[in-house]
Amino acid sequence: MSQAEFDRYLALRAEVDRHNRAYYEHDAPTIPDDQYDALARQLRELEVAHPDWAAQVGASSPAQTVGGAPSSAFQPVTHPTPMTSLDNAFDDEELRDWQEKLARALGLPADSDDFTFTGELKVDGLSVNLYYVDGILQWAATRGNGVTGEIVTAQVLTVPGIPQQLSGLRGELEVRGEVYMSRAEFASFNAQAEELGTALLKNPRNGAAGALRQKDPEVTRSRHLKAIFYALGKRDGVPVGTQWDLLTWLRERGFPTSIHSEELRGMAAAADYHARMTAARSTFEFDADGTVLKLNDLRAQEEAGFTSRAPRWAIAYKFPVEEVETTLESITVNVGRTGKLAPLAHLSPRLIEGSTVSKATLHNEDFIRDLDLRVGDTVIVRKSGGVIPQIMRVILDRRPAGTEPFVFPTHCPECGHEATRAEGDANTYCPNPACPAQAFERIRYFVSRGAMDVRGIGEKLVAQLLAAGLVRDAADLYTLSAGQLAGLERGGEKKAQNILAQLEASKTRPLWRLVNALGMNHVGERNAQALARAFGTLDALLAATPGQIENVPGMGGVIAQSVTAALADASMRDLITRLRAHGLNPQEEQVTRSEQLAGLNFVITGSLSRPRDTLKGMLEQAGGRVTGSVTKKTSYLIAGEDAGSKLARAQELGVTILTEDALDALLAERGVTLFA
Ligand code: AMP
Ligand code: ZN
Repeated sequence: MSQAEFDRYLALRAEVDRHNRAYYEHDAPTIPDDQYDALARQLRELEVAHPDWAAQVGASSPAQTVGGAPSSAFQPVTHPTPMTSLDNAFDDEELRDWQEKLARALGLPADSDDFTFTGELKVDGLSVNLYYVDGILQWAATRGNGVTGEIVTAQVLTVPGIPQQLSGLRGELEVRGEVYMSRAEFASFNAQAEELGTALLKNPRNGAAGALRQKDPEVTRSRHLKAIFYALGKRDGVPVGTQWDLLTWLRERGFPTSIHSEELRGMAAAADYHARMTAARSTFEFDADGTVLKLNDLRAQEEAGFTSRAPRWAIAYKFPVEEVETTLESITVNVGRTGKLAPLAHLSPRLIEGSTVSKATLHNEDFIRDLDLRVGDTVIVRKSGGVIPQIMRVILDRRPAGTEPFVFPTHCPECGHEATRAEGDANTYCPNPACPAQAFERIRYFVSRGAMDVRGIGEKLVAQLLAAGLVRDAADLYTLSAGQLAGLERGGEKKAQNILAQLEASKTRPLWRLVNALGMNHVGERNAQALARAFGTLDALLAATPGQIENVPGMGGVIAQSVTAALADASMRDLITRLRAHGLNPQEEQVTRSEQLAGLNFVITGSLSRPRDTLKGMLEQAGGRVTGSVTKKTSYLIAGEDAGSKLARAQELGVTILTEDALDALLAERGVTLFA
């Protein structure tokens, strides 16, 4: 390496960094997009040619963190080769028709079965095109109308595992795949939206589309999108002869690919693959609406060619749509532990995707009104995200005479207290702290598996304890005697002893379990873990300000306000005091250290958006070291507002200085997931 070349690299890097800042931090770009693109590209090219250079500098390269031209987000772009659609088949006969046409297109006898196919799943997400030149990612775009898409590079790069550089490639390359939201992520997003009373996602596909359309890629990142890749457009210098080779090549080059793809010989094998996937569909991590069968040999594919809209060499074989018709028999409204009035539909039982569905959540008042659901209606039910049954719509033509719109209760169905619904909140609550239904749900929640995990205290026992006046809330559980329990439980003395032992053991459960068990609005397992990890002790959490809570990843202002209000509440304080008096002493969870930041020394200075201890905890948990003073051994100085002597010292020693944003970028790059 010549020093001059390296210096030029450093200068270019500084320049791109400056433009990034102008764009990102000040929202005031100082050069036109195309000039910026050219600079960023030069920088990436240098880094591909000299892979060690970026490493020598240490901090993450601006070429890496931007991931393409930031200023071109949502700009239209023409795909170098169009992204086509697929023809469909709905049964085995249509599959055979396709095979016959294929044979004809290839000049073979119509009944020829001398084909090898790949079987793949048709993931229900959004297709994207990644465009590389000389192995360097230029942009990622949505399919759009197939000819022109929109640039969503930064958004797509939040998907783990997408390579930005592919070594040893010259020329143009397009890599195609599907960005999706997993069913698990969909369910957890909706569970949270349900609690917050914000808009629910209709299905995972909707979730993926919404997440990709976020201007702020950090919002996209928080939705944990994933992707699988399965096709190439332009493929200069990619040595593959079959679709199967192509899938293998993608996998070897680090692209996420599907584990469900198979190489299939002959039409019978293809039909069998489809049948097996149909049977397994509820077990997939994502929604899939069918299989895609592709002629394996790429040269034969070329020969078969395209119709005006789709390739002749591939077909989407759709799964039967698992929508069923049923009758809405009644609507009940239950009261949850937070007092939320939760409407539930009772349906004539029907089998969907292998399980019997007889209930579906109706979420809230607006959901029922928007669908105009009435008891007696014929409704269409589907499993959204593979698991949760959902009423899709009403068949109005079949509405019996004399139905009435559903009237949402104005009073708590359990205690009769007037119900309240706040402005801008989709949920209605019973505000009565003494509501017996709430006490019941709160105690059940307290002992449940995701909370304190006290075995042996079931629904029936909780109801009995409440009815007998032996408990009013969860703290009272710890006052129970064997005699009292034995009097209620049929199992008698032995069972009672067992329950007492369970209760005793629960006193030293990890902090997050207690935080969850308190049953605060908006705090489930995930948020409880985040809070426990951020604050470490119950006292620290009780003393936390809304601002500090808001800075815990995943929290946000609404949740922070709600948590501080809940913790300040007199009856909550009383509950906590009594729990402690009974000997509850939550233990800090043994944190398993990971290695992503091993060998890195951090120093923190200035005022940052997150509590310093939170940040320190995060870095240490990922294997980093946090020390108090800047030395030659310091890898990074994380500098906030009003940084003083440490900043000067770091500059003197040439230690890399990171803003909090740059730190987050570094963490993301190293795959450090916080509070996962
Ligand atoms: P359609 O939009 O119904 O015509 O179906 C074509 C779309 O299916 C493609 O544009 C892709 O977005 C999507 N797709 C999902 N999985 C696959 C796959 N394994 N192979 C090809 N296309 C797929
Ligand atoms: Zn009530």
